[in-house]
Amino acid sequence: MADDIPFNRTLDLAPGVVEEVVPGVRRILVDNPSPFTFKGTLSYIVGRGKVAIIDPGPLDKKHIGALLDAVRGETVTHIVITHTHRDHSPAAAEVKAATGAATYGEGPHRPARPLHIGETKRLDAGGDTDFVPDRRIAHGEVIEGDGWALEAIATPGHTANHMAYALHGTDVLFSGDHVMGWSTSIVAPPDGAMSDYMASLHRLAGRPESVYLAGHGDVIRDAPSFVAHYIRHRLGREASILHRLRKGEADIPTLVRAIYIGLDPRLAGAACLSTLAHLEDLVERGLVATDGAVSILGRYRLAR
Ligand SMILES: [Zn+2]
Repeated sequence: MADDIPFNRTLDLAPGVVEEVVPGVRRILVDNPSPFTFKGTLSYIVGRGKVAIIDPGPLDKKHIGALLDAVRGETVTHIVITHTHRDHSPAAAEVKAATGAATYGEGPHRPARPLHIGETKRLDAGGDTDFVPDRRIAHGEVIEGDGWALEAIATPGHTANHMAYALHGTDVLFSGDHVMGWSTSIVAPPDGAMSDYMASLHRLAGRPESVYLAGHGDVIRDAPSFVAHYIRHRLGREASILHRLRKGEADIPTLVRAIYIGLDPRLAGAACLSTLAHLEDLVERGLVATDGAVSILGRYRLAR
C-alpha cells in the first residue's frame, strides 16, 4: 500500500521496563505483540507520588505485576481508560483491587450502531464488555490529580467510547488507539464508525498539542502534521473505493483486492471491516448505494 503517512515502526522498549517517556509520564510495554498491537500495548503512569494509570492493559499477570511494582511506594489515585478493547481496559479491575483507585472512562463498551440482522459479536471479539467506569466522563471534563490534570477529549470512531486525554500545562496528549505512530487505526463496524472517526480526527487537528503518546508505538513528535496525514490517508482510501465503483458494482472482497496492495493476509479481515466502515459512511452521505442494510456481504455501486 503506497502510504504517505510517516510511520515510525521502531520502539526501543522491552516489555515490563519502566521508562520516563516525557517529563512526568512513565510508560510500560505489555508483552502482547501482534499484527494489531505492534510490539504491544502501552500503559502510562502520570505524575509522581499520587499518580494516574492510563490504560492498565490486558489481563496479563506479568504486566499487572510490573505496573504495580512501578508505582510501589506511590499512591494510584486514578485509573483512566481510553477505550474498552481487551488489550487496554481489563486489568483495571485488578489494579483497582490492589490500589483502591477509582476508574474513569467514557462508559461501557457498546457498538457504534445497532447490530444488523445476522450480525453477531464475532465482529466485535476485541471488546471488553466487563469494564464499567466508576466515574463516567464527558468531553471537556477535566480529571484533576495531585500535580496533574487530564482533559477528556471525546474521540469516537475506533470505538464508540474512545477518549483521548490532554495533559494540562504540557504539549502532551494521550491518543489511545485513535492516532498511533506505527499504523493507521482500525475502524471496524459495528464497534467503530468512519464518520465518527473522521470527525474525531478533525477534532484533534484543531488542538494545540504536538506530542502524542499512543496506545501502541513510539511517541509522535509532530502530531498536527501526522493527523493531517491520517486524514489524507482516509480520504485517499475513500477515493480508491469510489474509483473502483466507477468501473462497476463490487462486493467487499473485490474492493479490498483493488485498494489494498500487498496486504498482510493476517489483516484481510480487518481490511474488509475497514472497507465496510468507509461504505457505511459513503452510503450515509448518498454517494454509494446497496440493496438493504450496509453489510459485509453486500454489493455496492455508485449512487445515481
Ligand atoms: Zn489497542
